[in-house]
Amino acid sequence: MLHVNENYAKIKPTYLFAEIAHRVAAHKEANPEAKIIRLGIGDVTEPICPAIVAAMHRAVDDEAGRENFHGYGPEQGYAFLREKIAAVDFRSRGMDIEADEILVSDGAKCDCGNIQELFGPDVKIAVGDPVYPVYVDTNIMAGRTDIRLLPCTAENGYVPAPPADCDADIVYLCYPNNPTGAVATLAQLQAWVDWANARKALILFDAAYEAFIRTPGIPHSIYECMGARTCAIEFRSYSKTAGFTGIRCGYTVVPKEVCAYDAAGNAVPLRPMWTRRQTTKFNGASYITQRGAEAIYSPEGQAQTRATVDFYLENGRLMKAALQALGYEVTGGGDSPYLWVNVKGDSWAFFDKLLKEANVVTTPGAGFGRAGEGYIRISSFNSRANVLEAVERLKKIL
Ligand code: PLP
Repeated sequence: MLHVNENYAKIKPTYLFAEIAHRVAAHKEANPEAKIIRLGIGDVTEPICPAIVAAMHRAVDDEAGRENFHGYGPEQGYAFLREKIAAVDFRSRGMDIEADEILVSDGAKCDCGNIQELFGPDVKIAVGDPVYPVYVDTNIMAGRTDIRLLPCTAENGYVPAPPADCDADIVYLCYPNNPTGAVATLAQLQAWVDWANARKALILFDAAYEAFIRTPGIPHSIYECMGARTCAIEFRSYSKTAGFTGIRCGYTVVPKEVCAYDAAGNAVPLRPMWTRRQTTKFNGASYITQRGAEAIYSPEGQAQTRATVDFYLENGRLMKAALQALGYEVTGGGDSPYLWVNVKGDSWAFFDKLLKEANVVTTPGAGFGRAGEGYIRISSFNSRANVLEAVERLKKIL
């Protein structure tokens, strides 16, 4: 008889966005004329910028001829992309990261979810609460249920400090944060790096929203901290940076020094293990995709992708200003595509109110964890016309 992986039964059965989709579908069925504006799921709306489109067209032409045809590529990613990443995302900002420490993938979700395969079944995990659910669910699927929640609240600015008694082996940190939109200062991240080095623990740093940082001095990478090369892995994604949610590309940085430990206490470097894992289970992001990603690093690509991110940030600014004028406390925006709004009440009830009375879809904070109760997340990913319309509707009902 086939024995199922019973860990799957321990995951929360309804995924947050499935429940939202269900409620939106019911509302739509009852109100077929309703013009629904979706500020819930964090998916981009603006097209790929011209520099990337041109590069991908050229790559299609490469694949169309014998001379420049590319079949299977290196699983870790093409050197042309890894070298640009190391130079532009890290070395130009004073961080010492080499191209061979970067492994290109088809996005940050897979890497955030798969990385836990490198660790023992008994490692203790710490995550923020509220949290991007992938960190938690992928560990539960692997049988790890020893998960500490670090409350991210208005009191700590949604950035928990390492608790004195935190005995976790791995902490997932995500800044700019999904869902709270909060950013961490260098001192706050440095405290975690010092904690991890002192404990021989590991930071899994998710920088999927790095491109939204505009405030000078806010760290773009965990490697801006002293000593992070020995204790941190970083995930990056082109999804929100360059509108790649459909194209799919990202990368993970595993410095040569970062290690886990075997039963005898010997240090085992993680970079060869992650490379082995990827070369065994992943066959690389497509050549066309990686040529598109490379174009992000051209002067035109940098300017064009920045302009799109600025456009989303302006959406956030407009919504944040309107909500604050209505008397709501709002975190995020500014350096993040997400607004985290204190609704002073039940988050699903507030979600339903906005859906039913304004035809506006948001995300109830409770879906991201217990500490998310009392909040909703609003995404800035939409057209300007929809954002302005949503603002008018919210003004009418709130
Ligand atoms: N990490 C965080 C915090 C996210 O919010 C998301 C996407 O919503 C991802 C990772 C996944 O990014 P990707 O599209 O690269 O898989």
